[in-house]
Amino acid sequence: MRLIFLGPPGAGKGTQAARLVEKHGIPQLSTGDMLRAAVAAETPVGLKAKSVMDAGGLVSDDIVIGIVADRIEEPDAQKGFILDGFPRTVAQAEALDAMLSEKNMNLDIVLELDVDQSALVDRIVKRAAEAKANGEPVRKDDDPEVFKQRLEAYNRDTAVVAPYYRGRGQLKSVDGMKSIDEVSAQIDSVLDAVGREV
Ligand code: AMP
Repeated sequence: MRLIFLGPPGAGKGTQAARLVEKHGIPQLSTGDMLRAAVAAETPVGLKAKSVMDAGGLVSDDIVIGIVADRIEEPDAQKGFILDGFPRTVAQAEALDAMLSEKNMNLDIVLELDVDQSALVDRIVKRAAEAKANGEPVRKDDDPEVFKQRLEAYNRDTAVVAPYYRGRGQLKSVDGMKSIDEVSAQIDSVLDAVGREV
């Protein structure tokens, strides 16, 4: 099973992807997590990406496509994966198509979490407060001002990715404003309807 989660930052992609990992035993490939790891390790990619990420912008397509191309070659990704945070531009979606067709693989479904953007800033403020209360590191880009930049980047560059997949009949939307459990239940029923064994 190969699946993509789409939706603005703070929509719950990471939360829902992590739940599917547990349920179905396929890896979550989060480009945000991979980039944060590269930043922490101060790799050449991390050094290039850091300032863009801190400002809430998008890292260049070349860098992100390269990271994903390497990651989907790993053994654990051969039986499937959940992409979280990629593709974020049409160029990335096209590159993913090319990578998959080269490997004779197809995408099973693209799940869009449909959310009210005006509620997302509150959500992110809550996420930062919870992380702090649990003694976990707070993401620098969860600062409300940076978060607004991330939303702008989404509306400018990423919102067009959903229509790209819709046009090919691969997109399913679920209501991302419901509780985590309710969103999970909707996702499960969409996956059941697609009739895929994962
Ligand atoms: P995320 O954890 O998905 O919210 O990503 C955090 C940050 O990493 C984003 O704000 C971008 O700066 C960068 N990033 C993650 N995925 C991508 C991508 N597919 N394309 C460009 N930049 C990305």
